[in-house]
Amino acid sequence: MTRTLAEEAAEASTCARCKLADGRTQVVFGNGDPHADLMFIGEGPGFHEDRKGEPFVGAAGQLLNRMLGEIGLERGDVYVGNIVKCRPPGNRDPEPDEIEACTPWLVEQISLIQPRVIVTLGNFATKFVLHTTTGITRLRGQIHEWHGRTVIPTFHPAAILHGGGEKSPQFAALREDFELVRRTLDEPLPTPSAPPAFEAAGPTMARVPADAPPSSGTAPGEIPRVVPGVPDGPVPDRDQMELF
Ligand code: URA
Repeated sequence: MTRTLAEEAAEASTCARCKLADGRTQVVFGNGDPHADLMFIGEGPGFHEDRKGEPFVGAAGQLLNRMLGEIGLERGDVYVGNIVKCRPPGNRDPEPDEIEACTPWLVEQISLIQPRVIVTLGNFATKFVLHTTTGITRLRGQIHEWHGRTVIPTFHPAAILHGGGEKSPQFAALREDFELVRRTLDEPLPTPSAPPAFEAAGPTMARVPADAPPSSGTAPGEIPRVVPGVPDGPVPDRDQMELF
């Protein structure tokens, strides 16, 4: 039987599946509307998030809130989570074994929330979700179809703050991407009689075909509640990634 997001969060709160459990103050599971159409995925909690137990509560979170406000949304209208749920020491990048251990939590979150649109914040989350090595500068500003959903990659708000702030071209791009999010959310839903066509299995998660037998345990179109595994090959570390 499918459990609720709150039940998942309760189990995650004592997670000790990886070494990040040793240094955290608390698990930062994610928060927002459990049935949100729009979900944001960041990299991992920082200092303030670790203390408060909520994602994006520091300066980057303030910028995220501001951008949401510009498209007529509040934090409570969306769901915000991260690739890893515990703060990596010194805010280093999450390591492959940590990501692998944490991925099932994210997969279950997406499967329970069923967001129509997912915004990946920054290079790290974008490369992980879209399973690509292409940098955020080339991927942003466009919509990417992913398991029957729309992914819109954009710059990480922290990268904007560290890279020139409001006067930077990246800030203008961030604003454009949020406008794209607004337009995408405003698009009419597909009619129930025309379910989205099944796409070939993606690199990290396969959608359930519309004609899948009921024994699959997952409704057609849903992300299956199985662990997809992390992308093949090593997850690039920060040194290999461009900031923008
Ligand atoms: N940066 C992230 O990627 N996630 C947070 O929750 C906060 C800052």
